[in-house]
Amino acid sequence: MTKAVFSAHPTIAITGASAGIGEETALLFAERGWRVVLGARRRDRLEEIAKKLKAAGAHDVAVATLDVTLDESVKKFAEVVWGACGHRLDVLFNNAGLALGVDHVAKGSMADWQSMLDTNVTGLLRVTREFLPKMLEVSHGHIINMGSIAGHVVYEGGSVYAATKHAVRAITRTIRLEVNGTPIRVSSVDPGMVETDFSLVRFKDDAERAKNIYKGVTPLSGRDIAECVWFAASRPAHVNIEEIVLMPVDQAAPHKLNRKS
Ligand code: NAP
Repeated sequence: MTKAVFSAHPTIAITGASAGIGEETALLFAERGWRVVLGARRRDRLEEIAKKLKAAGAHDVAVATLDVTLDESVKKFAEVVWGACGHRLDVLFNNAGLALGVDHVAKGSMADWQSMLDTNVTGLLRVTREFLPKMLEVSHGHIINMGSIAGHVVYEGGSVYAATKHAVRAITRTIRLEVNGTPIRVSSVDPGMVETDFSLVRFKDDAERAKNIYKGVTPLSGRDIAECVWFAASRPAHVNIEEIVLMPVDQAAPHKLNRKS
């Protein structure tokens, strides 16, 4: 006998919802009638996406400016989320993240490294620490962390990005141990190449260079990842999907691509 997983009007809170995977996941959950709370730094984009989600069938949409590197900002985001869902959050999707540059360690930028660590690791921890106590208090909730194939396999030029995603994997597995004995579920989705603004951010708005990353291959789409988040979230309450690792067929490893000319 399986128990219902979701609240009557289930809620997902998404960090990094202003683009790419976060935006697509918001759209998919909206289409399925969920209440969606969007957080990211670019509020104007969140407002535009909110309109799209309402048209797609969201039960409700709330937006909050969020910078995961700042305590106050995360606290304000949490206030919006708890206010929207009545202290019963079904899914926290810790998606905000970025890669900056492909420098080798010998000539890496300290500022880029710090920014990746602050966002992908400390930011994810800061958000989780804000939400997990209440989830434990009400014995309800699912944390889905955005990992990466870079949490499993390293590549030249990806030292710190890979370190951050290895850290996300370690944190995900640790929290699972720490919440054992409660109904809280903890998962990660760990994809290879997904076509989003990720490469544009990594190459600091060099659009040509970003486009070349996807040249001659069929990458994953944001929707592919959203479907994985949905799959993990929609299992019966006694099932915890620990990790979903997915790659484009054209990508056997971060550095092993089948490029058609
Ligand atoms: P994207 O299109 O660039 O989206 C990144 C999102 O993160 C944006 O909404 C951005 O919003 C947000 N973000 C960045 N810094 C933030 C901060 N300090 N506070 C709050 N939000 C912040 O890239 P994406 O591919 O969708 O990336 C989403 C996640 O997937 C990341 O964790 C990334 O590491 C992971 N991932 C991506 C790929 C890929 O190939 N694309 C593969 C594996 C894993 P604002 O700029 O508006 O704040």
